[in-house]
Amino acid sequence: MDQEEFIERQKELNRLTSLVSKGGTIKDCSHPVKAECCLPIKNAHSLQRQGSLKLLEKTVKGNSFIYCHTERQINKKYNFLDLKPIGRKDASTFYGFCDFHDTNLFKEIENDPEATDIDNNLHCFLHTYRSFSHSYHRKYEEYKLFTSSEPEVLNYLNKYYGKDIDKVRQGIKLALQDLEVPKKRLDEILINKTYEDLEFYCYEFPYRCPVSCAGVSTPGHFKNGTPFNLSDSENVSYSDIFTTVLPFSERTVIILATFPDDLLGIKYLDELDHISNTLEFQKYLSFHIINNLENVYISPKFYDRKSYKWRQSYCKLIDIIANKYTPYIRYNKAFQINYFASTEKIES
Ligand SMILES: [Zn+2]
Repeated sequence: MDQEEFIERQKELNRLTSLVSKGGTIKDCSHPVKAECCLPIKNAHSLQRQGSLKLLEKTVKGNSFIYCHTERQINKKYNFLDLKPIGRKDASTFYGFCDFHDTNLFKEIENDPEATDIDNNLHCFLHTYRSFSHSYHRKYEEYKLFTSSEPEVLNYLNKYYGKDIDKVRQGIKLALQDLEVPKKRLDEILINKTYEDLEFYCYEFPYRCPVSCAGVSTPGHFKNGTPFNLSDSENVSYSDIFTTVLPFSERTVIILATFPDDLLGIKYLDELDHISNTLEFQKYLSFHIINNLENVYISPKFYDRKSYKWRQSYCKLIDIIANKYTPYIRYNKAFQINYFASTEKIES
């Protein structure tokens, strides 16, 4: 698929996604104790309500905006599919918690937006639970889109996926089934308050970095290139890596998590922990984010000052990763993206 074709397809997919989200967004509370639920289902933020996204904004002529990897527009000057400026209100919301649970479940980390402490297991768990809930909810919405009987949606799917459509649908269905396993375990931890039943790897940078993200993924390789989570065998279960990155006013918090009995997941986190070179650590963490998560926000203060060639290759990389037909990419030391360098910090 060439760039032109990809742009056309992306535009059409964006249009369709908005079509489906108007008529068929899934509204369902993720909390396991349904008896407590109190409607309405809130349009909740996967990242902090007031905190993180506001801290990434840039204001031009009174308009504040940020970028999200999934919101794109054509850059007419250089003819590529660029990131699109969006308002914070349009960012990162999902109908995944009812009014009661949205307020009560997250109050420990929301009432004081700067309160998050990486040495507090409850805080780490709540961020992880919300990040997972966002990915889980999005996967259900994707399934709904791909199994829609709306003629307009069917036309699109047939046009672009042709005879592969059943295979693509099957892949989404399997991914959804796989997510039921961590969902059940996270709900048990939530109910029993056994936060030590998750293994956290946390890190804090002493300055505000230009990125925020939340989600769960099954990375395709270890750092050295050894395949990970790529088995086709039904007997092999995948390793879930939960990721949350939150900028605060003068620091940035990284919370990665996996299940303690998941030895390969632990190995993946250990690899990150054992990188002694600062630059390599920052680049590999940046690679992990861009390669594994869709729900990524970056600051225009970071992105807009890069050359158009850098931005073009950045967007191309996102497209390659998002494309179901391209193979997984691997980390190498020449990787050019580093969100965490102190030179990229965002000043107030
Ligand atoms: Zn609820």
